[in-house]
Amino acid sequence: MNMKKPMLSVQEALDFLLQSARSVKERELVSTLDANGRVLAEDQISQINVPPMDNTQMDGYVVRAADCVSGNAVLRVSQRIPAGHIGQSLEAGTAARIFTGAFIPEGADAVVIQEQCKADATGEQVTIEHAPKSGEWIRRAGEDIQTGSVILQAGTRLRAQEQGLAASVGLAQLPVFRRLKVAVFFTGDELTMPGEPLKPGAIYNSNRFMLRGLLQQLGCDVTDLGNVPDTLDATRSALRNAAQGNDLIITSGGVSVGEEDHIKPAVEAEGSLNMWQIAMKPGKPLAFGEVHRESQHSTFFVGLPGNPVSSFVTFLLFVRPFIHALQGAQTITPKSYSMRADFSWSKADRRNEFLRVRINDAHGLDLFSNQSSGVLTSTVWGDGLVDNPPNQVIQPGDVVRFIPFNELLY
Ligand code: AMP
Ligand code: MG
Repeated sequence: MNMKKPMLSVQEALDFLLQSARSVKERELVSTLDANGRVLAEDQISQINVPPMDNTQMDGYVVRAADCVSGNAVLRVSQRIPAGHIGQSLEAGTAARIFTGAFIPEGADAVVIQEQCKADATGEQVTIEHAPKSGEWIRRAGEDIQTGSVILQAGTRLRAQEQGLAASVGLAQLPVFRRLKVAVFFTGDELTMPGEPLKPGAIYNSNRFMLRGLLQQLGCDVTDLGNVPDTLDATRSALRNAAQGNDLIITSGGVSVGEEDHIKPAVEAEGSLNMWQIAMKPGKPLAFGEVHRESQHSTFFVGLPGNPVSSFVTFLLFVRPFIHALQGAQTITPKSYSMRADFSWSKADRRNEFLRVRINDAHGLDLFSNQSSGVLTSTVWGDGLVDNPPNQVIQPGDVVRFIPFNELLY
């Protein structure tokens, strides 16, 4: 009986991965300064108002608005309040020189910018040439953040903005999940490292550089076991090594079922494996499983296809969200945009295609001329992917679904 397994859709494969994920539990405290890219382990609550007090947005004079209704009031300058210094209560009929960020003194209720004021030569008197509304140019206490409010939720990946926000409420340290430990190795007797001459039949190992870069951008702690020869024994021993002390193993190449493809039998011998045919292009084969190890849980395994663009696209669509889940990060669905195709694509395929495209000056999309799964140039030239459903031809002017690479790279 020849029962060919049906191909999985992209969504089915992704759901399976996400359901299988076990997130890291261990936490550590890191300095807010060093928290970039880490995943927050607990909600963060502000203990203060930001700003802490009413303060001035501009350099000028702080007054009682009621004293200035004439639009030409002459007031005695009673004091000078630079940022970081606390002024005296403002007496009626006086003004205080004030500088951006300084707290508003008691009694005052408006700031007049210096361009609308004329001080006399001694600086002891000022003419306020504007009738301010009460509250003018004043930033209110708690306008940004109120005491007791949640400023960041558990599962947030900390970017520069989040570090700044945490610091603005005085948080010097943040509880984060420990870094995910990921081991990688690369199969293929043809693979050569840059820096070495290319022998006949050889190619440079580009996936090693691309995958390491992707993993580093995701804040993973990477152990790189390098190139592994195309034999069952070497592949099995690399898997055993990679499993020790790591949460996830990622490999490239050798996931087809040819004589030179050893990933499948090796993972089956060292653990368990699902071989998937995914209805997508580039990137049809994807291997997902676990490799046993002596202590605790087994280590997750993902085998990416060897073709560089297939490897890149399957990483972005599957490995990235899987890593987020293992890291304890909230699921972030990449934003996609309806955009106009300024190209035609007549080779409708029964698989879901991910075409490398670029945004042109007319706000439409151009297609890279060579969509072959080995052409890495397309990933450098392109701004992102068109997610083209199965059996869909594209005519110029059609609206397509565009996912920018930026949405897939953090
Ligand atoms: P495989 O999946 O092992 O059958 O490899 C598919 C194609 O990808 C072959 O043309 C390989 O030479 C190429 N390939 C495999 N691994 C890499 C790699 N690490 N870097 C660049 N190309 C690769
Ligand atoms: Mg190979």
